[in-house]
Amino acid sequence: MTIDPTLIRRMAFPEGRSRPVATPLHPTVVWAAETPDQLDDIYDNPGTGFTYAREAHPNALALAQRLDALEGGQGGLVVGSGMAAVTVALLGCLRAGDHVLGGDQLYGRSLRLMAETLPQMGIETSLADPTDAGAFAAGLRPNTRAILIETVSNPTLRVADVAGIAALAQARGIPLLIDSTFSTPRAVRALDHGADVVIQSVTKLLAGHSDVTLGYVLARDPARMAAMRVLAVTLGLTPSPFDCWLAERGLFTFDLRHDRAEDNARRLADLIAGLPGVKRVIYPGRADHPDHNRARELLGDRTGNMLSFELDGGRAAANALTRAMPDVAFAPTLGDVGTTLSHPPSSSHRALSPENRERLGISEGFFRVSVGIEDFALLSADFTRGIAAAAKA
Ligand SMILES: *Cc1c(COP(=O)(O)O)cnc(C)c1O
Repeated sequence: MTIDPTLIRRMAFPEGRSRPVATPLHPTVVWAAETPDQLDDIYDNPGTGFTYAREAHPNALALAQRLDALEGGQGGLVVGSGMAAVTVALLGCLRAGDHVLGGDQLYGRSLRLMAETLPQMGIETSLADPTDAGAFAAGLRPNTRAILIETVSNPTLRVADVAGIAALAQARGIPLLIDSTFSTPRAVRALDHGADVVIQSVTKLLAGHSDVTLGYVLARDPARMAAMRVLAVTLGLTPSPFDCWLAERGLFTFDLRHDRAEDNARRLADLIAGLPGVKRVIYPGRADHPDHNRARELLGDRTGNMLSFELDGGRAAANALTRAMPDVAFAPTLGDVGTTLSHPPSSSHRALSPENRERLGISEGFFRVSVGIEDFALLSADFTRGIAAAAKA
């Protein structure tokens, strides 16, 4: 038996008069054009067709359009990770010889980009406290060409003085880059707060199921956005079509997940604050949060799903806690449908000296919780048991 000689001939996908309801998944790397004239036309008119997946593909475009709608902007770009988005945002604004001023409690890898990678490219970097616009004013240099902050910092959940820093950036004509992964567009549409560039790690709450790695970047100025798009294509920061498809599917329930998780976080923060063996709870929605008033102004009621707490005990108490609550994943991520627990001293902040950690208020008993959408009774039982075990250790 010989095999059908036409087997690998590419054919048109069967289509009827009806349309699929779910978004189709397009893993194709290339698109066939009819003629060289048509190909020319597609290159000349971006958005009218596709050529090669690294340049653009339908699943990324569909996701980007939904994220644009959430952020209240247009023309945003989906890239292969949150760090790809941070990289494109920074390199889209900076050249060798320029300076960038960042928040001193940025995401760990962003700090590393500032400390190692950008200086290797001849870009000067320095950090300042984002809760203090005066510190940012003092940190500016004549060659400062970008400011990078996060709305809510990791893991101490300090709330940046976005209004003060935005006013400063605008007065000096410096682009303000805001990574609003922790607050999400449900709480803060960064463009409405003076951001020139918005960054999201879609990996986290937006996709929400711990099964994709994606980022999103949106610049207010179309020329800057076009330059960032070229940079992302050249650097090859392409997102996987399947990840985009999954993320779009996750987005359909984003607001429901967000509100449920936030409600759980509010209740869990109050519960933990009342348990013996707990030194402090950090939640922007609580009156005892150091930036509570600013949180009210910036976030309103959307104080988010993230909380942190500190045990009275040290590492032994921390070990006892995670052992006593095996159903809450001890994993250094956030934004999953299920609650996850992370311990910055042994993960995101392990490279810091104990003194530097102490300065940030991150002791061995410090935990960060990404609260999920479980029934609150389950969470209440888990944390009550875990913290009781820690108190005994
Ligand atoms: C996780 C995270 C990133 C990086 O995102 P990845 O998708 O993991 O690359 C950037 N900024 C913040 C605030 C984050 O939490």
